[in-house]
Amino acid sequence: MRLNRLWSVLLAAIALPAAAEPVLLEHARVFDGTRDLGVTPVLIDGTRIVHVGAPLPAAATGARRVDYSGKTLLPGLVSDHAHVGNTEGLQHGDRYYTRDNVVRDLRQFQRFGITTVTALGMNGHEFSAIRTEVNADPTLGAQLYGAGGGIGAVDGAPPAAAMGLQRDAVARPRNAEEARAAVATQQADGVDLIKLWVDNLGGKVPMMPPEIYRAAIAEAHARDLKVAAHIHDLDQARDLIDAKVDIIAHGIRDRAIDPMLVRKMREQGTGYIATVNIDEANYWYAENPQQLQTAFLRAALPAEVLARWQQPQWQSEQLAGANIAGARKAVEMSLENLRRLHAGGVKLGFGTDSGAMPQRVIGFAEHRELKLLTEAGLTPARALQVATADAADLLGLADRGRIAAGKRADLLVLDADPLADIDNTRQIRAVWQAGREVSGPIIE
Ligand SMILES: [Zn+2]
Repeated sequence: MRLNRLWSVLLAAIALPAAAEPVLLEHARVFDGTRDLGVTPVLIDGTRIVHVGAPLPAAATGARRVDYSGKTLLPGLVSDHAHVGNTEGLQHGDRYYTRDNVVRDLRQFQRFGITTVTALGMNGHEFSAIRTEVNADPTLGAQLYGAGGGIGAVDGAPPAAAMGLQRDAVARPRNAEEARAAVATQQADGVDLIKLWVDNLGGKVPMMPPEIYRAAIAEAHARDLKVAAHIHDLDQARDLIDAKVDIIAHGIRDRAIDPMLVRKMREQGTGYIATVNIDEANYWYAENPQQLQTAFLRAALPAEVLARWQQPQWQSEQLAGANIAGARKAVEMSLENLRRLHAGGVKLGFGTDSGAMPQRVIGFAEHRELKLLTEAGLTPARALQVATADAADLLGLADRGRIAAGKRADLLVLDADPLADIDNTRQIRAVWQAGREVSGPIIE
């Protein structure tokens, strides 16, 4: 993992044309990833932030100046759980995993202010090559990290038929030995972390047996790789935490978490990515069709999806679906568990599962998730910290997620203050990646 990351950094340093001159971003209010610094200057040189605050160093004298009066500057958002190259219009499946579709998705993330994306499983074998190319060129979209195919259950999650996995890059070990071998193979393929699916989908498919996920976690740790686990229910989360999993990659949605487990997660440093929006996405668009009129959502939707979702018949059928009552309950429980985990001081990450299916809308879902974090009682500042500094920490990416000297110049510039109203993260003025302005306001 370390070596691959090192190569990415070195390649980025070689391939990126350094900006001709330093750039001084002036008069913006700065949220640095953990706190509001007030109105203060930010100096960029090449791909990095080199100074924040007054007095400015001598290097600022010849800098190109950008006046961001009235704007708010944040670190670019970091997603710890998304998917790329898995959808095309109303369809999804691994037949869409191509370099061009991955770049298409990473550009959409970037345009919506997400400058680092963790593709948490179902990546094709081309993952490492695509990551190397993308991470060396900020015009190709958000920086890419991730698991490769991931490790799933035999005849179980992720369900090959429902997820359209025809090539199935997901490893499905039958015993502990095969689980250890799968971790070794994925590390050799250059993954940044290991993804596990431990979910029987409400009893519909076999669950990955504990000896398999325990072997995979132990092997990953012996190889200095983190492990993120897809779960739905408390029992699986509890046993995975007992097995020292690093990241619970979805909210716990069947029952309320107990204080003992919250404490254990805090003490072990287990990370938690709530992905509240994953269940809400099953009904929210049908229930809020007026959102389909906003440029912000329209810009995120393929034409076929927008056309389908605008049909009143589709909307009423969606809302009458057999799974909708369950999805609403899952959202309520997910919010309650997030409240408890946040109050208990557990390490939080940021993610949505966007890109896995058409209704998990790339870019839009992340802004919706920020809103949901505030519905669980986080202040806007705390929600933004989760999506920047904390999300980067969860991946072990020390070079981003904060506006500070030495960090990557990956920035989100907003026209309105998100600390006053989290919905203002939608008021995007510009996105900077690796010291370059790569994107502007979102219009249809
Ligand atoms: Zn996922």
